[in-house]
Amino acid sequence: MVAVDPAVRIRRDGPAVPGRVALAVDVGGTKFAAAMVDDGGDVLSRAQCPTPVGAGADEIGEVLLGLVKAVEDRAGRGPDVVGIGSAGPLDIAAGTVSPVNIRAWREFGITDLLAGFTGCAVVRLAGDGHCMAFGEFWASPSPSRALLGMVVSTGVGGGLVLDGLPLVGPTGNAGHVGHMVVDADGPLCPCGGRGCLEVLASGPSMVRWALEQGWAPYGPAPDAAELARAARNGDPIAVRTFRRSADAIGVAVVGTAALFDLDDVVIGGGVVNGAGDLLLEPIQARVAQLAGLEFVRRVRIAASTLGADAGLLGAAAMALR
Ligand SMILES: [Zn+2]
Repeated sequence: MVAVDPAVRIRRDGPAVPGRVALAVDVGGTKFAAAMVDDGGDVLSRAQCPTPVGAGADEIGEVLLGLVKAVEDRAGRGPDVVGIGSAGPLDIAAGTVSPVNIRAWREFGITDLLAGFTGCAVVRLAGDGHCMAFGEFWASPSPSRALLGMVVSTGVGGGLVLDGLPLVGPTGNAGHVGHMVVDADGPLCPCGGRGCLEVLASGPSMVRWALEQGWAPYGPAPDAAELARAARNGDPIAVRTFRRSADAIGVAVVGTAALFDLDDVVIGGGVVNGAGDLLLEPIQARVAQLAGLEFVRRVRIAASTLGADAGLLGAAAMALR
């Protein structure tokens, strides 16, 4: 169940700095991941497993601790500090998480669980979007004064890093671009709002809309990856679906760039990793079409360089720095 990858070097510049080591934990709706990461950004060990969504609260905690033990054993040591990135909602002050897709975890005390298991005094908790953004900021060869990280996957999440610090906000939810309203006449969002980015651009939203338009997938359980394949093969409905999603993301990017004078937008998550330029190029075109002021037009838009490990690396960075 626990897949342990060989040691991976994430940061390409400079040698590893001997020093403190962080345990990084990523709690997601579909997978748990953990890694031991040193001060220089090198991943000493890494493991992941599917999220045991149907299990009880304590049992889910045991699965997570099993993962932690696997990466500690592989690294041959325990951590000095712990960083946790989690799907929301979460309560950073209380150290608890209530991930929407993990029903048994409601106000679950993850900070206490990992502090107790590792014996670490420093255990930092943040949203997965913040961790992704901070990971990209930390790994970037040309550091950004104002960076928006976006995760387009089962949902749409995000986080801002301004002048080197994550913008967390009073409730820990700042930067959550998924629930920016990008179409006031758009469909209802499961959050209770209307026309949110997530309901137009998440993987499941795209698949649902494509099916409503008459898309005929091959399999019984089509996903965003199959939709991307169809778009590449020229299926007009699939192509239109990616265009619609990119248009919505472009609206959110232009608004955020105007608000925060962004240098960079880095977009990751399963949908983008699978679709690549199918999404990125129309997003760039949409931004060029909508943005007027030079400081908005200058925003750089790129795919994540860290892929699925951005959140883990960002969680480590927040604990180490
Ligand atoms: Zn919403």
